[in-house]
Amino acid sequence: MTATLELEKSKSTTARATMRATIFRGVNDIRVEEVLRPVPSAGEALIRVTMTTICGTDVHIVKGEYPVREGLIIGHEPVGVIEEIGPGVTGYTKGDRVLIGAITPCGQCRACLSGHLSQCGRDKDYEALGGWRFGNTINGAQAEYLIVPNAQANMAKIPDDLADDQVLLLTDIASTGISGAESGKVTLGDQVAVFALGPIGLCAAIGARLLGAARVIGVDGDDARIAFAKRMGVDIVLDYRKVDVVAEIRRITGSGADVAIEALGTQPTFENALRSLRPGGTLSSLGVYSGKLAIPYEAFGAGLADYNIVTTLCPGGKERMTRLMAMVRSGRLDLRPLITHRFKLSEIKQAYKLFSERADGVMKVAITP
Ligand SMILES: [Zn+2]
Ligand SMILES: [Zn+2]
Repeated sequence: MTATLELEKSKSTTARATMRATIFRGVNDIRVEEVLRPVPSAGEALIRVTMTTICGTDVHIVKGEYPVREGLIIGHEPVGVIEEIGPGVTGYTKGDRVLIGAITPCGQCRACLSGHLSQCGRDKDYEALGGWRFGNTINGAQAEYLIVPNAQANMAKIPDDLADDQVLLLTDIASTGISGAESGKVTLGDQVAVFALGPIGLCAAIGARLLGAARVIGVDGDDARIAFAKRMGVDIVLDYRKVDVVAEIRRITGSGADVAIEALGTQPTFENALRSLRPGGTLSSLGVYSGKLAIPYEAFGAGLADYNIVTTLCPGGKERMTRLMAMVRSGRLDLRPLITHRFKLSEIKQAYKLFSERADGVMKVAITP
């Protein structure tokens, strides 16, 4: 009798455990609410989030430009500590510090096994396996706790000598931005142009330099971002309000950029990126375009210029996170200057306001519980 009672008691205690989370309640309506703390199922783990951030995508979600279901917890950039491990997840212990990429590939489907980790679950035949995107299709990271799906493939252990704010931005913007340079196949001696110097564009510029670019030319039209990009080591920053950026890139490079990275997702930036290429050059596109995107035939060299156009979505998975952390650990990658503001989870609405208005020179914010 006592044993049964004890069990009932512990069951109800588990059921009552709650957490605070940022919930999407409708367009321009997010609230920090007390909700049930989830329990990991097979293949999952529960982590206690120790640091997270706000992404441009989250702002689109809140504004209703990127529809998600009402009641979803937002956020996809988690750093945390393992609290509970579901059946079938091995090699981890409670208390391990882990980093999880924004997209959590299953590691089993056609896309994953072909090396296209960010396309996991977008394949009709394998839909049941994947399609996991924190704060987009499943509950996200702007909360005290988070369920990690496909935990075995996605939890990268954080070395003890790395602090949360050193690895936070690897989860999304650094993985995405750097992949723009990787997909563009930036090689030693390349001249690379980066269009739009927000956090992702800056990471693309950093990636181009890491891959051996001789010169990185950035383009933006925001005074704070231009100044910031110069501080972050972008060699030349062009202000599109003041100069014809295509002509200027052609003049500086001689015959055009080897690689142009588009990091905004608009028709003008895409076109300017294309027009600034040398024959045989590569346009690497990171922007998410809404509506129609047109490729003007003359900018495309009438199809005769041997251009490559490649697109990339954030590469996730624990191997990617581990490799990016190795770059931080060796001192080759330091993203901390990008974290310009810090907030508590309880102040997240203020953080959203600041971030979406780009006020006070904000680049990225860090959110702690
Ligand atoms: Zn994001
Ligand atoms: Zn997969």
